[in-house]
Amino acid sequence: MSHENQPLIFEITKEGRIGYNLEPLDVPDIDLGELLPAGYIREEAAELPEVSELDIMRHYTALSRRNHGVDSGFYPLGSCTMKYNPKINENVARYNGFANIHPLQDEDSVQGAMELLYDLQQSLVEITGMDEVTLQPAAGAHGEWTALMMIRAFHEANGEGHRNKVIVPDSAHGTNPASATVAGFETITVKSNEDGLVDLDDLRRVVGEDTAALMLTNPNTLGLFEENILEMAEIIHGVGGKVYYDGANLNAVMSKARPGDMGFDCVHLNLHKTFTGPHGGGGPGSGPVGVKAELIPFLPKPVLVKTEEGKYHFDYERPQSIGRVKPYYGNFGINVRAYTYIRTMGPDGLKAVTEYAVLNANYMMRRLEEYFDLPYNRHCKHEFVLSGRRQKKLGVRTLDIAKRLLDFGYHPPTVYFPLNVEEGIMIEPTETESKETLDAFCDAMIQIAKEAEATPEIVQEAPHTTVISRLDETRAARTPVLRYTKQA
Ligand SMILES: *Cc1c(COP(=O)(O)O)cnc(C)c1O
Repeated sequence: MSHENQPLIFEITKEGRIGYNLEPLDVPDIDLGELLPAGYIREEAAELPEVSELDIMRHYTALSRRNHGVDSGFYPLGSCTMKYNPKINENVARYNGFANIHPLQDEDSVQGAMELLYDLQQSLVEITGMDEVTLQPAAGAHGEWTALMMIRAFHEANGEGHRNKVIVPDSAHGTNPASATVAGFETITVKSNEDGLVDLDDLRRVVGEDTAALMLTNPNTLGLFEENILEMAEIIHGVGGKVYYDGANLNAVMSKARPGDMGFDCVHLNLHKTFTGPHGGGGPGSGPVGVKAELIPFLPKPVLVKTEEGKYHFDYERPQSIGRVKPYYGNFGINVRAYTYIRTMGPDGLKAVTEYAVLNANYMMRRLEEYFDLPYNRHCKHEFVLSGRRQKKLGVRTLDIAKRLLDFGYHPPTVYFPLNVEEGIMIEPTETESKETLDAFCDAMIQIAKEAEATPEIVQEAPHTTVISRLDETRAARTPVLRYTKQA
């Protein structure tokens, strides 16, 4: 593996070269020995790269150009919704009154920012059909955990603290069982039937008086709408459990159907997916949770409220609250972007989002079904899952297909997920891509399918055009070298 043409920053270092200018020190110098215990003070100076400002700018700019982002190309990463990040959102988030305030300022001096958060909460109440929303959780998984903690507190308040089981279908997003475990519950898995939907008989079999909740990802990770939701909610409510809606991917149902109307008690949303928060590089995100009235007393505190005089206020007088789940009040900047997006789109715009997300996914699925296996051949919602098993028989694995897509300038889709599809390829086009882009991507997929038959080695050895060729992924994951050590 080479890092051709791009030396490490440690390799371009020149002793004495600096990229900054500091004013002469005009306060007393401090003696570190007085501040830190002896063992923590370094004997020799740290070996840091010594480079000019220009060197360092060129170094990182060159590296950044090797990144693939949604601003540089199509990014059909199923289950992750990498859609475009409207630039107007960025403008608004940079307004002085939003960017330069401090979370510990007096409430009186940040009423505008609080009003924005309050209005965003109200919009999400309306979009989800819930009774109240908290903006505190910082991501989807964090929202799941927050909701489960509220469900636990609810059961305990009713003297039913023995309810320790959370039911999760095998087609749920992977964070669902993880959140249930972190929240201290035991996870029970229910199977999908041959249509890719939750098997109701299996569900009836596992519920009982120890059921705390059912977590339902909808659309599920096959991109399919769970058609028996009302019945599922009835089964769970029948035994005294709560029903949780994983609404990370609301761009498949938004403005068409509301979790609150389907019998759900709580829901989380991913503002960094459906509501256009930038979401590369791991964050920051925002995973608000909406709840029905019964769960309101348990919301994380403070709760943002509007007083009778029309002032916005953080209410800490919540004796049954599960407490704070995030410093301050959520990731404000992401919430500003989501608010901007909702206001730019309006209700009709959000409905169009859903229609295009679903139309685009079905269009691509139908263009590709002839060339790849489609294990669940039904109308999909915002995403669909192909199987590469036909290609596998030719010696070409899904991983090879994903790598070959890099040669066409695309970020590969999610692969080997969900687990119930052999050699899975999970594609989410999103509503924001043009028909030309969708067609070009399908053309690339079709060409790869043909190559798998005629010239499999081209696919097996891909990528051919990237700076770095095929990585040893196991070694990269198991024995990563993350530190520079000087070669002798
Ligand atoms: C992305 C996603 C999550 C997790 O959200 P994070 O913000 O990554 O924690 C949960 N459920 C579904 C269905 C998702 O697509």
